Amino acid sequence: FAQPLSASRQFSPSVLQRLISSLAVLEQREGKLNAGSLSAVTAAQKLGGSVHCFVAGANAKPVAEEVAKVGGVEKVVSVENAAYEKGLPENYAPLLVENIQKGGYTHVIAGHTAFGKNLMPRVAALLDSQQVSDITAVENENTFVRPIYAGNAIATVESSDPIKILTIRGTAFPAAAAEGGSAAIEEGADPKAESSVEWVSEELTKSDRPDLASASKVVSGGRGLKSKKEFDRIMLPLADSLGAAVGASRAAVDSGYADNSLQVGQTGKVVAPQLYMAVGISGAIQHLAGMKDSKVIAAINKDPDAPIFQVADVGLVGDLFDKVPELTEKVKSS
Ligand code: FAD
Repeated sequence: FAQPLSASRQFSPSVLQRLISSLAVLEQREGKLNAGSLSAVTAAQKLGGSVHCFVAGANAKPVAEEVAKVGGVEKVVSVENAAYEKGLPENYAPLLVENIQKGGYTHVIAGHTAFGKNLMPRVAALLDSQQVSDITAVENENTFVRPIYAGNAIATVESSDPIKILTIRGTAFPAAAAEGGSAAIEEGADPKAESSVEWVSEELTKSDRPDLASASKVVSGGRGLKSKKEFDRIMLPLADSLGAAVGASRAAVDSGYADNSLQVGQTGKVVAPQLYMAVGISGAIQHLAGMKDSKVIAAINKDPDAPIFQVADVGLVGDLFDKVPELTEKVKSS
């Protein structure tokens, strides 16, 4: 927009809105929609114009029917084929590109999740487009806001690519309302591309606790917990007393106290719960990058100068091995 368009080529805002057409790429597993991926629909709605959704997998139909009810969605493009069930980018990317070209979309949006981070760069490369990753706000159809340097600076970037490929930070866009819509469902194109990659197996961590990425309360433990045994003994009852998800610092994960999937931070998950409690975590910038947007941050640390206290709303200086069991008992009896 540095140069104004000539009078004959100027579009009124309403015409421009009609020219924008977005495709939100939604995640599913075994025929169930990942509700968190509806954040991509919210981001698409912020662009204005029409909003379509895309789902693919072995049992895509029930997911498409669920998505059709999401408010503001005009059309759901669905491809039923077991080859796309696991979202392997080697075959999912050609599938998505074919449907993007068929639909003539101007914007394609997925979550900045393992699925989106795996898939979208390949889609962008196939379309010769420069992906804009991990956006936290939409300024207009060309301009997006994204954190850089582990969240220490915020960049506002403008894309001139005809097809914008975007991944969005889920915590910055609430999931679109799952009700209120009646979108049409259309069978998408299936190129049935040959893939040299085959899905062999997966090992999933099972937990009855809330999902870390979407929980309203998170309690995270750090190196201060000293061992896996102590991490489990101290952190799990605290989490259960609060109905919270469990997170961990990278030092705790690297030391084997907690599973890799629980890591919060620059190279882990980004969370923004109502309550984030950091226990025995110093507050390195790479950890803060994953939790500093939490509504209330509470910290327990024996070092009064620990940097975590600079971002904490509530701080308790003390030995976690005394303070946390005491707190857990108080929460349980309250
Ligand atoms: P420490 O920094 O060792 O802190 C332990 C804290 O526990 C201290 O403050 C200490 O006072 C306190 N403590 C000890 N004993 C007790 C006690 N008995 N009672 C109370 N308090 C106690 N880190 C992440 O967390 N997530 C990331 O995603 C991440 N990504 C990274 C990416 C890169 C490229 C790099 C270079 C680093 C990354 N890190 C990440 C690592 C980060 O720099 C820190 O090393 C890490 O966060 C430290 O973890 P910690 O706070 O648990 O450990």
